[in-house]
Amino acid sequence: MNKTLDTLKKYGPYDGMYFDIHGAMSVVGLDDPEGDFITRIRKVIGYKTLVSTSMDLHGNVSWRLAQNSDLITCYRMAPHEDAMQTKERAVTNLLERIKTGKGKPAYKAWIPIPILLPGEKTSTRIEPGKSLYHEVEPIADHKDGIVDAAIWIGYAWADEPRNHAVVMVTGDDKAKVTQAAEKLALDFWNVRNQFGFVAPTGTLDKSLADALASQKHPFFISDTGDNPTAGGAGDVTWTLTQLLARPEFKRADGPSLIYASIPAPELVKKAIAAGVGGHVEGTAGAAVDSRFAPPVLLKGTVESIAYGDKDAEVEAVVKVGGLHIIVTQKRKPYHKEIDFTRLNLAPRKADIVVVKIGYLEPELYAMQTGWIMALTPGGVNQDLASLPYKRIKRPMFPFDKDMKTPNLSAQLVPLSGESK
Ligand SMILES: [Zn+2]
Repeated sequence: MNKTLDTLKKYGPYDGMYFDIHGAMSVVGLDDPEGDFITRIRKVIGYKTLVSTSMDLHGNVSWRLAQNSDLITCYRMAPHEDAMQTKERAVTNLLERIKTGKGKPAYKAWIPIPILLPGEKTSTRIEPGKSLYHEVEPIADHKDGIVDAAIWIGYAWADEPRNHAVVMVTGDDKAKVTQAAEKLALDFWNVRNQFGFVAPTGTLDKSLADALASQKHPFFISDTGDNPTAGGAGDVTWTLTQLLARPEFKRADGPSLIYASIPAPELVKKAIAAGVGGHVEGTAGAAVDSRFAPPVLLKGTVESIAYGDKDAEVEAVVKVGGLHIIVTQKRKPYHKEIDFTRLNLAPRKADIVVVKIGYLEPELYAMQTGWIMALTPGGVNQDLASLPYKRIKRPMFPFDKDMKTPNLSAQLVPLSGESK
């Protein structure tokens, strides 16, 4: 925060600022960190500067964030294959408004929708997310009076009043802006009961039974409760502990399983000292989140070591029975085939691949011949109904049954710098 503010002070004034955020940051003791951030930025840059905010659709849009942004948008795809296009659109729109002298769009319609669902139920790969998000582009490309339109699913694993879905449309034509926002919000509300998990789900035992029984391989299992890209610690050892206890994987000639991954900086040091082919022994994981299982003891052979990954820094594969366990110096999400092949692992030839992830990212999705999302414990537990929410707005779908249709009329957010 201070680095950003100091840098902004140093180089101002600015015609425009591009605010590139996810939107689901958590800071202990502070609600709505992104709203707080932009408010502090505004104190430095003032209100003449045009701010274009671009976000992940799993971020949250508080009134304060909406007010301090002049342009605002988010991804239209989950998985986020359009991440770079979204950022480009946000910057292009910003430059266009500056160059043409049009400045801040005159209207920003904001509609909070009392729906809170995980990304694993709202992927745009399947209905109803697919059709709902397909509505956005034609509206936003309606150049005559509308600048952009966006739907935020919001973030389900935090407990603040801002955690819910939002629709926003920005532009210069009041009627078009409000009507477009109200249509998107109503269409979202109307399909709320149709959202379901993007893949089959089950307990870890059921997931392993399906994987072992499958005729086709590799069979992918998402360790969903501890998905680091969703906000899980990434070091929950619960699933790995269960795998190590299973008789099927105790033998080296049994089914092969790749486990990605578990942070274990001390064990990585030992792996480097032992070298490839050497024996290592040490604990892994549960340094951050030990609520579900303690650090897990791994005793095995070092299969490979790789250096230089921007997230993991150092990675090693430790073979324990039939398990190829990736241990990392720092937490790393495994999204791409090369994340495995650079460690000399062959995920396409493995029987089972377990990844700390929710829905599979495109390259993993392309590799699987079978896939199940294991409903495992962790910071991003998919069983939202079991979570002890205290501070989200109520009523909220799907937690409160028989909700009345909420007020989905557009609220016009004051322009930045104008009082409410
Ligand atoms: Zn996201």
